[in-house]
Amino acid sequence: MVLHYGQAIFEGLKAYRHPDGAVRLFRPGLNARRLRSSARRMSMPELPDDSFLEAISLLVGADAESIPTGPGYSLYLRPFMIATEATLGTRPAERYLFLVIASPSGPYFAKGFDAITVSLSHDHPRAYPGGTGAAKCAGNYAGGMIAQRAALADGSDQVVFLDAREGRYLEELGGMNLFLVRERAGSVTVLTPPLSDTILNGVTRASILSLASELGAEVEERPVTWEEWRAGSADGTITEAFACGTAAAITPIGTVRDQRGSFVLGDGRPGPWSTRLRAELLGIQEGAITDRHGWMHTVQ
Ligand SMILES: *Cc1c(COP(=O)(O)O)cnc(C)c1O
Repeated sequence: MVLHYGQAIFEGLKAYRHPDGAVRLFRPGLNARRLRSSARRMSMPELPDDSFLEAISLLVGADAESIPTGPGYSLYLRPFMIATEATLGTRPAERYLFLVIASPSGPYFAKGFDAITVSLSHDHPRAYPGGTGAAKCAGNYAGGMIAQRAALADGSDQVVFLDAREGRYLEELGGMNLFLVRERAGSVTVLTPPLSDTILNGVTRASILSLASELGAEVEERPVTWEEWRAGSADGTITEAFACGTAAAITPIGTVRDQRGSFVLGDGRPGPWSTRLRAELLGIQEGAITDRHGWMHTVQ
């Protein structure tokens, strides 16, 4: 049934080998909760959080020798659930499989920490009001690949999707959430579009909102148009932008292509806020900075 009707949901998180030898996960309770919320949206059974954590712990334990160490290294975990009932009836399946796979993962950027170029997708929205954009379900990704391919052909690295209704509001990158940094009269605002049914509730996004405010920035969740992004970059009030997600933590955006041409953020290189937030986040995840929030979960 999964092949025909697309009942497939997944998660992504990482296990880190810390300097004290322990293996720890970053906020896995949020992934467990999000898998249940994706399941509800897709009419699939909700896996209890304890079972989610137990499955991950068993796999991490079995693969403990394969967890690479060092800055930027971790074991990427991919829990997922699919409908496995063998029938062609158009209804929620009565049988499912929950699985976890893992893969050693190294620094995301081959050439070091660098800024990427993004294209705005003026033609193909990723998600629709009332649709499945807030669920981490397989079906959300195939539809966005056409925009991703066009962006790559155009020399960009990633796509920024706009809202489906007006094609004006920034949403996310289809696998990463989006942040802008605004500076005015000496005060810094770290800004991201508000959660809705068209934006995935990223664990990294939520963590950056906390960290940015602790580092002294104002944080704002509000709708931002692409015209505001362009104008703010031109007049120097929007100084940085970055994408964030489990795979790459924080990815600074240097250049943006839109229907009017392209514009550059700051000097086009990773800015101070992207760099500081990234160091803070990776420091906590990799065990170099004290986990003052109780975000890390030790695998027994
Ligand atoms: C997984 C995902 C993200 C990032 O979420 P994290 O929990 O931070 O990894 C953002 N957008 C989409 C569409 C995603 O699937």
